[in-house]
Amino acid sequence: MSLHKNLEEVTRMECVDFFGVADLSPAKRTIHEQGGDIVSQYPRSISIGIILPYAIVDELPNRQELGVAVNYRNIYDVTNQRLDMITAKLSGLLQKEGYKALPVPASERFDDERICAVFSHKLAANLAGLGWIGKSCMLITPENGPRVRWSTVLTDAPLEVTGKPLQVQCGDCMECVDICPVNALNGEPFRENEPREARYDARKCEEYLSGDEGEEWNVCGLCIYICPHGRKLKRLSIQID
Ligand code: SF4
Ligand code: SF4
Repeated sequence: MSLHKNLEEVTRMECVDFFGVADLSPAKRTIHEQGGDIVSQYPRSISIGIILPYAIVDELPNRQELGVAVNYRNIYDVTNQRLDMITAKLSGLLQKEGYKALPVPASERFDDERICAVFSHKLAANLAGLGWIGKSCMLITPENGPRVRWSTVLTDAPLEVTGKPLQVQCGDCMECVDICPVNALNGEPFRENEPREARYDARKCEEYLSGDEGEEWNVCGLCIYICPHGRKLKRLSIQID
């Protein structure tokens, strides 16, 4: 079995919903600006994605109820842990074959000033052809919208690239912009050469989520809930080739 197929098979066994490989060279400068030499040295990335349970996301408009907030926080943390375990496993497999592999944490703050991680999982998934960057600044998959958590392995293994960025399909939709309780999104569409700040005020979102308003379980995710591309559960959502 080829290394590529072996990696796919491992993710399938772990019940991962999305798998993709990207050529990172078109985004090398952007990746370096965000995370520096350590992450920008790799020519390929493996993206894996796990769909959040619809039963939990669909309740987010009721997030003021403690049970709803607790469920969302819990599934968010557990999904990140699952992703981290799987990227560690994939990295081990790549290393055994003699390649360098760096698992990027699913959710770990790198820069407090810019409020960002060391590497953008959605950038890698976008380049792998798994979705587009929406007005919500999240990766929108055609099958499950933004209801997917992502993680990445960076590697120098010459894996076969699985796709290219999908065309943006937000159109005139402004649902994520309109529902945001703190106007953190301004409705500008994603443009490759513009910084995230041109569309999204991460500070407003962070202050809201940090519970500065005095709520013990302050969660949001309304921009995840509302996106029409994820509202309807599609049964055949497995994306692994
Ligand atoms: S999570 Fe909530 S506050 Fe943050 S951008 Fe989305 S809708 Fe706005
Ligand atoms: S809610 Fe509408 S505008 Fe926002 S990301 Fe989804 S499709 Fe795009």
